[in-house]
Amino acid sequence: MPLTKNQLVTLSIESLSSDGSGVAHCDGQAVFVPGAAPGDVAAIRIIKPMKSYAFGRLERLLTPGPGRVPPDCKVCVPCGGCSLRHLSYEAECAAKTTFVQDAFTRLGGLTLAVEPILPSPLADRYRNKVQLPVGAGEDGLPQTGFFAGRSHRIIPCPDCKLQPEWMNELATRTCALFAKYGVTSYDEERLTGHIRHLYIRQGWQSGQRLLCFVVNGRDFPHAQEIAATLQQEFALTTVLLNQNGGRTNVILGSETRTLFGPGVVEDVLAGVPLKMGVHEFYQVNTPAAEVLYAKIREFAALRPTDFLLDLYCGMGTIGLSMQADCARLVGVELVPQAVEEAKATAARLGLAPERATFYCIDAGQAAAHFAEAGEKPDVIVLDPPRKGCDLATLDAVLAMAPRTVVMVSCNAATAARDVKYLAQNGYQPQKIQPVDLFPRTKHVESIVLLARAE
Ligand code: SAH
Repeated sequence: MPLTKNQLVTLSIESLSSDGSGVAHCDGQAVFVPGAAPGDVAAIRIIKPMKSYAFGRLERLLTPGPGRVPPDCKVCVPCGGCSLRHLSYEAECAAKTTFVQDAFTRLGGLTLAVEPILPSPLADRYRNKVQLPVGAGEDGLPQTGFFAGRSHRIIPCPDCKLQPEWMNELATRTCALFAKYGVTSYDEERLTGHIRHLYIRQGWQSGQRLLCFVVNGRDFPHAQEIAATLQQEFALTTVLLNQNGGRTNVILGSETRTLFGPGVVEDVLAGVPLKMGVHEFYQVNTPAAEVLYAKIREFAALRPTDFLLDLYCGMGTIGLSMQADCARLVGVELVPQAVEEAKATAARLGLAPERATFYCIDAGQAAAHFAEAGEKPDVIVLDPPRKGCDLATLDAVLAMAPRTVVMVSCNAATAARDVKYLAQNGYQPQKIQPVDLFPRTKHVESIVLLARAE
């Protein structure tokens, strides 16, 4: 019997889906229920029946699952960022391990058992960076918050628990100053107004604080006064202004100028001293990234004569964190500022260019070029964005035939797909290790160790 709209069914939630919804089954059909926890038994209203699955709404909780807790944020449901705040952190970790296992079994066709997830040292207030959209509140004045799921409606969230308190306070105070000085929020329909986003970053170890105004146009009224007030009140180390006049969802424009300070903040990750502005990708949870990088290093198991190729290297952090274990490091990354930072860090570490080289080019093109040139890396680290690697990259990796491939990914589905391809072409998955870089959200990082079959 197909499910029908508005039908009420009693279901047991079995697991979590990739978007953090609870998954139940009804007559063989999967039913996805946002806000449901594994183990919940609940009355569920069918909202949207599809051909072979359905979306439901949790109407009444009959028996709570063992890991269910009252959410400690008032706006987590409309905001949607913390889709797992109704689970205890232990239950969240267990659910994420199962979710990664499902992805690698179903999409990757692997029988290998996933290791239990490595938890984050901090479950709250762990973010070192936030990008807050600025929009008009009901009173017309600028406010920050988060976009409600799949929309551009801003949900105010004055105490987001994912970020340090000072970042929340800075956002509130900045909006008050905008109101005082007549600075307006960007209106994306009319393309009018001044401020599109606030971008806030903290050097986790150094404590250095960066604020960047993302501005529609070149400037905004009283920029210097506002920057100076905030700098003093919040001990900001750097204040930047990024120009983004484009009709785009991309947060940053390409031009950034410094209003105060050196323009960068410093951090140390896995022993690598870093400097960064706003354009470089950096793991948002520094303490959990330490856990991630230690595991990557263990999986890479480098030997002193090895050549390590770090594809999608960002600021070069993964490769640089293990450069002492090997003879030569090459990193590849598309964002020019990140490549510049990687080179500068290598120079600060006293590494000659033949020990550590970084290229600003597409990973697939670079890999194809290296394969053609007969380069033979011993270990290749792949850390692609959510969409995963393209076939050209994977084929070039296969052509270079490294001893070990370490795949790092924030998307288990695309990682499973890419690992499957490598597994079908001579590489054996040896270990799958989830790491929780994003507590309380649906996101999870995984590392896969693959060895060339002899
Ligand atoms: N390994 C880094 C960054 C990982 S995030 C770290 O641990 O910090 C993924 C990176 O891939 C981003 O820096 C992004 O800019 C880069 N990237 C995206 N597409 C790319 C491509 N086609 N070629 C090379 N790099 C790419």
